[in-house]
Parts: sequence; structure tokens; C-alpha cells
Amino acid sequence: WQNMTVQQLADSMGKDTDHVFECMLYIKGHNTDKYEEEDSIIDNIEVTKEIVNKTGLRFKFEEQGNKEAEQDMDAYPRPPADPSLLVKRPPVVTIMGHVDHGKTTLLDSLRSSNVVDSEFGGITQHIGAFSVHLPDTNERITFIDTPGHAAFSTMRSRGAHVTDMVVLVVAADDGVMEQTKESIKYCNQAGVPIIVAINKVDKQEADVARAKQDLLVAGVHLEEFGGEIQAVEVSAKTGFNLIALQEAIIAQADILDLKSDVTGPVEAVVLESSTHAGRGKLSTALIQMGTLRKGMYLVAGTAWAKVRGMFTERGDTVQEAPPGDAVEIIGWRELPSAGSQILQVDSENRVKEVIAWRKKQQEKLKSKQDIAEIQKKESEHQ
Ligand code: GDP
Ligand code: MG
Repeated sequence: WQNMTVQQLADSMGKDTDHVFECMLYIKGHNTDKYEEEDSIIDNIEVTKEIVNKTGLRFKFEEQGNKEAEQDMDAYPRPPADPSLLVKRPPVVTIMGHVDHGKTTLLDSLRSSNVVDSEFGGITQHIGAFSVHLPDTNERITFIDTPGHAAFSTMRSRGAHVTDMVVLVVAADDGVMEQTKESIKYCNQAGVPIIVAINKVDKQEADVARAKQDLLVAGVHLEEFGGEIQAVEVSAKTGFNLIALQEAIIAQADILDLKSDVTGPVEAVVLESSTHAGRGKLSTALIQMGTLRKGMYLVAGTAWAKVRGMFTERGDTVQEAPPGDAVEIIGWRELPSAGSQILQVDSENRVKEVIAWRKKQQEKLKSKQDIAEIQKKESEHQ
């Protein structure tokens, strides 16, 4: 380690100087303003280390071949936290399965089973996610209430891990169908564990044994056949065995040993965004790292917020949201798009810098594309 100019440091990493300037935007607790020029000498070893570290993170993403993430990697997720800071967090679950097999009914039952202790049941508003408490325990589960496929495309395009596991709903009177197979494929590709909910067992036509046979054929190795995948027979309609299903989710979560850092800057992902006549621009965020609080500054793509308030889907105000929680956020100046990554920055100034940089990158990209387009046309002309 030695003092280097911005240019030298960039060269030594095989990057351009923009990359170094970009990294500096995310370095906290150091004055990086004095390194504004290519020939500025970086005289602080910690700053140098952080830039190199953040560059390493970028390489990691590039290795994953994630083109979209690459373009947006000006905002860096923070390096892995000190293991001693990690605490248990609730699992985040997505429901998938063939049409009409009972996904919506199951979500509704899980949701309403959770509001019995509330004095006003039923006034829930759709925010794209909700949490349930398991009775007589401290266990919580966050269910994502957006279509499973959307949650997955988000996950794939961002390289971000949105959902920890999938509850695959299979109707016992219908067995494995086209979209069941598709869902299984998605899960396998993403390496996301499955828990099977064999639904509609209250129906006369229910044939649980056949559904299990179908699953086996589709490559889903159920526990009772020596595999590792749990299956729970449920009725989303009558509520039968929903507690057992939630216990299966918690058992899976224990195996996954889900932990997160509740301190440090917030990282989250946008699940849904909408504009509300009375309340303005709203978005639901799934918190992945850090603890979200009022007054924090967030960037997501080129949108940003100063958090003015946070709400659960029951409309309750919350003061803070730790990892695994999904909350509706008010305070957005522009609406962030679903799937975009939210990062906390220190100040409104930082917000402006990051967004200006991102917009510049977008323009650069666009002019590159324009040039490629012109070249293509010219070559076609010849
Ligand atoms: P989705 O397309 O997967 O969201 O399926 P829905 O939740 O809309 O359910 C499709 C139909 O199946 C609806 O008429 C539900 O009332 C019915 N249904 C869902 N779950 C059950 C169940 O456990 N038992 C019975 N008998 N009907 C169910
Ligand atoms: Mg539905």
C-alpha cells in the first residue's frame, strides 16, 4: 500500500478513473472531496483499501455475468458484516403454483389467521407483503404477496436474494400441472428450497397419494420418500393445517440459518410502487440489511426518498423496520421501480451525487447504444 494518484489506482486495478470516483461516493467517515482530480493523491490508506474492496465486490458481480447489475453497480452493497453482528431474521416466503390451485386463498387465510388479535380485522391494504406471528412463539414469517414469477424475475435480474424459500401449492384434486413444473424449474435454477402445500384436501376429489406421486415424477423429493422436501396437507379454504405449514417454514428457516446485520446502512429491495391520491408516492420495501428508520435517505435507481413514515399492511405506523420486514415507505420524490435495490446514503448531498452519477452512466450507455446502432446501419448500407 502506498499513496497513489486516482489515475494510478485506477490503472492498477484495470479500471477507469470514473470507477474510483464512483467508489468514493460510498466511503463513509472519510473526507474524499480532496480526491476530485485524476492526479489527486490519495493519502489515506483506509480510503484506498475501501476502493479496492468495493472493486472486488464489483468483480464478484461481473463474474456472475449479471449485465444489468453491472451497469448499476455504482451503488455498492456493503462488504459482508462481521459475523458477531449477525442476528436471526424472519424467513421471506413466496407462494407459487398452478393457476386455481389456491395461492390467493392460501395467502388470504394466512393473513387473516394473523389478525385475530387485532380489534379491527379486515381493513388490510395490499402492500405486496405481510408478516405473520406463529402462536405462542417468537417466530415470524414474511410472505411476499406479489406473483411468484415477478419475485423471481426480480431476483434473477438483480442477482439479489429476495425470497428464502417457496411454498409450492399443488391442488390435491388436480396434481402437478404445467405451471407447477415451471415453478419447480425456477426454484431449482435459483437454488431456492421448496416446501409443498398439498391444498384442497377438504375436497371429495382430493387424491393426496396421486399428487405426491406426480411430485416425485417431477423431481420433487419428498421427505417421506427419503428426500429432503417437506410436504404439508392443507386446506386454504377451511384453514386446516395452516399452523403445520408455518411450522414447516420455520423448520426450513432454521436449516437455512437466516441471519442479517441489523446495524449499519440499510439495504432493501422494492417490491411494489404506486401513487396514491391522498398519500402520494408509496413503495413497499423488503429490508435485507440494516434497520430502516424515519429520516433516513434512500436511493433506488435514480429515485430517492427521505423516509417520512413506514406502515405495515394493516396501516399501523412502525418506528423501525429490521431485516426480514416489509414496510410501506412514504417520502419518495420519484417512484422507484419494482425490483430495484434500495441503498441508504448519508445525506441529501450524497443522494444528489449518486443520482447525478447514475444519470450520467445511463446517458453514456445510451450514447454507446446509439453509436452501435449507427454503425450497424452503416454496415448494412454498404
Ligand atoms: P390461485 O389461482 O392459485 O390464486 O387460486 P385461488 O386462490 O384463486 O383459488 C381457486 C379456486 O379454488 C377458488 O374458487 C377457491 O375458493 C378454491 N380453493 C382454494 N383453496 C381451496 C381449498 O383448500 N379447498 C377448496 N375446496 N377450494 C379451494
Ligand atoms: Mg390468485
